[in-house]
This record gives sequence, C-alpha cells and structure tokens, in this order.
Amino acid sequence: MSNYSIALVPGDGIGPEVVSLAVDVLDAVGDKYGHVFNYVELIAGGKAIDLTGEPLPAETLLAAKQCDALLLGAVGGPKWDTLPGHLRPERALLGLRSGLGVYANLRPAALLPQLRAACPLKDEVLIAGNSEGKPDFDLLIVRELTGGLYFGERGRSADGNVAFDTETYSKAEIERVLRVGYSAAGLRRKKLCVVDKANVLESSRLWREVSREIAKEYPGIETSYLYVDNCAMQLIRAPGQFDVIVTSNLFGDILSDEASVLTGSIGMLASASLAGSGGAQGAAAPVMGIYEPIHGSAPDIAGQDIANPLAAILSAAMLLRYSFGLEKEAVAVEAAVNAALDSGLRTRDIAGRSGAGNTEKIVGTLEMGKAVLKVLEGV
Ligand code: NAD
Repeated sequence: MSNYSIALVPGDGIGPEVVSLAVDVLDAVGDKYGHVFNYVELIAGGKAIDLTGEPLPAETLLAAKQCDALLLGAVGGPKWDTLPGHLRPERALLGLRSGLGVYANLRPAALLPQLRAACPLKDEVLIAGNSEGKPDFDLLIVRELTGGLYFGERGRSADGNVAFDTETYSKAEIERVLRVGYSAAGLRRKKLCVVDKANVLESSRLWREVSREIAKEYPGIETSYLYVDNCAMQLIRAPGQFDVIVTSNLFGDILSDEASVLTGSIGMLASASLAGSGGAQGAAAPVMGIYEPIHGSAPDIAGQDIANPLAAILSAAMLLRYSFGLEKEAVAVEAAVNAALDSGLRTRDIAGRSGAGNTEKIVGTLEMGKAVLKVLEGV
C-alpha cells in the first residue's frame, strides 16, 4: 500500500464544488488499487484574502511544499476585482507556480467522440493527418511556464514612447521542459513536435539546437520541428497529426488556447504544471505538480449545482499519472469519465454537442460526479 499527500486548494466560486468530487474520485481509486491519499486543505485566492488579507499566505506555500502534489479548483471573483494587482486572488496562482518551481505546463486537448459536434472543424479536416483516418485528434501541448518573454527583462524608454520585452532562454531551461515533453510522448503515441520561430529569433535557434541534441537521447520518439505560424495553421488544418507539442511560454500560451477551442467546453479541460518529468517514466519518488481545470471560478454559476466537474476530475487523473506515475489508475479515471458520457449524461455546458440522434440527459454537478464514481466502483 502506498501513501501520498495531496495539497488541496479548492479556491473560490465553483472551485470547491468540483474539487470535492475530484477528491471522491481519488478516494475511489485509492480503495480500488490500494493507495492512501492524505489531503491537506489549504487556502489561497479570494478565500485567503477574506481570512488573512493576502492571496497566498506564507503558511499555504510552506504546507504545499511539504506535499507530493497540489490539486486546485480556481480562484477569483467579482468580490475581489477592485483590489490592487498585488492583492488580487490570481496572484496566488503565480506565487504557487514559482514557489513550487513548476516549469512545464501540460494541456491535453482531445476531441471526445461524445462531443463531436462541439468541434468547429469538418470531418475531412479532422481526418487529414490522422494516422488512423478517424475524425478526431488527441494532442498534448507542453508549454514552458517560468521563462521566456513573460519573465525576461522589460521596460520603457525615458519618454515612455518605446517599450520592450525580452525573450530569454537558457539551455538548461529548454532542456528540462523538453525532457518533460519526451517523457509524456513516451506514454502516448511517441511523436514530439518542437515549435519555435527559429527562422527569425535567436532564442528559438537555441531551442532548435538544444532539441536536436536531446532528440538523440530518445530514438524511440519521432521528433519534428515547426515554426509557430505554421503550427497555428496546422492545428486547424489537421490537428490529428499532432501528439505532443513542446514550445516556449508565449507560443504555448497562444497555441493551447487555440487547441482548446477545438474540443468544446472549458468544463472538460484539465491541466498539469510540473516540476519535473513526472512519474510518467517510473520516477522513484512523486514529482511535484499543480493540477487544475483550465476554467476559472465561474462566479455566474457557483453554488447552483450546474458546473461541469469533469475538468477537475480529469485533472485528478493527470495528478495520478504525472506526479505519482499511477498510469493504470489514471486510465481508469479517464475511462470512467468516458463511460459517464457514453451513458448520455451531460452537464449543461456540454449538452447538445453530441450531434444528431444521440440521447442525452442533463444532470447537475453532483450527479455527473457520482456517475463517474459509480463506474470506478463498478456499481
Ligand atoms: P471562467 O472560466 O470562470 O468562466 C467562463 C465561462 O465558462 C462562464 O460562463 C462560466 O460559467 C463557464 N464555465 C467555466 N467553468 C465551467 C464549468 N466547469 N462548467 C460549466 N461552465 C463553466 O472565466 P471568467 O468568467 O473569465 O473568470 C471568472 C473568475 O475566475 C475571474 O475572477 C478570473 O480571474 C478567475 N480565473 C481563475 C483561473 C484560475 O484559478 N486558474 C483561471 C481563469 C479565470
């Protein structure tokens, strides 16, 4: 029996509603496969501002550092919107990311057959580049999260008429995020595409140089290279050609939003931010990661039992896979989500996305979570 500690930051708005179901799912996995998950509930974001006056109390970061992984709901809401920047709930996210050193952001984007009609692309576009000739795609964007343009030197000229931001990358920063990408590709379809702008940018030329070197260490993985402008086009021309994409902070920010639009609801999309390659390749010890749905706190629907909990539940699956290396457990959670969707259950945000002729039943947050649990428990 293995023991793991998980920091929980339910956060604000719908955060606590969806995180509590993700915890139920983790517990069901623990029962079924013989693991014990110990939770440490922490405050951050709006709730922390209300209780302590600051978005990320030092105790929260300290306690999170002592856990093996962190599961987060979402933070923020109109109540705190007028606070100055350094006191806003979202500050907690940046503090957690830098404090826990999570430098690789993984965002899967897959088109589930049950939500086919949510994708704006035609069948022939989806089939193009799909090695199995199917109208779908399943890709993972690995975005460098703590370097590049968002962290480089920036400023203004004395008269304020000229501004600059600097894209800075070291070999070490590029290498470590590439290794996360290769590790993930090893668990998937074994293809990795490095996206840069090496025809123009010196920093991108370093990316390419480093990746050509690192690629030699992963002969079992097919490495390719694309310029970012071409990649943006290819994502909507033939998304099925991609498995894992590894790219810089700026390019990853933009491309992952583009990819997420192809999948349907924001309520379905999970993410992981990792401080290493993850247990993906059988790491001896858990690897710290922050796992969170990509959606925000959705104050407009909070407390109404209508939020989609699947993004949070799928984030828990990523936690099992990448922090603890529990692949079969992660697959079981993903299969249970699929089965709940197969049975026709839909939260409001994903209703009417299945295409013609499919029977759907609209359910609330709790019922959707329970449906996933039932599958896991084999009831
Ligand atoms: P949002 O993602 O919270 O909501 C956008 C829209 O999507 C809303 O209509 C909402 O009802 C819907 N939605 C979101 N999640 C859903 C779910 N699980 N099921 C069904 N519908 C869902 O984005 P926003 O409205 O721009 O932001 C609201 C607050 O969340 C803001 O304070 C923002 O700063 C914060 N935010 C936090 C995070 C985070 O904690 N990582 C991320 C984004 C936004």
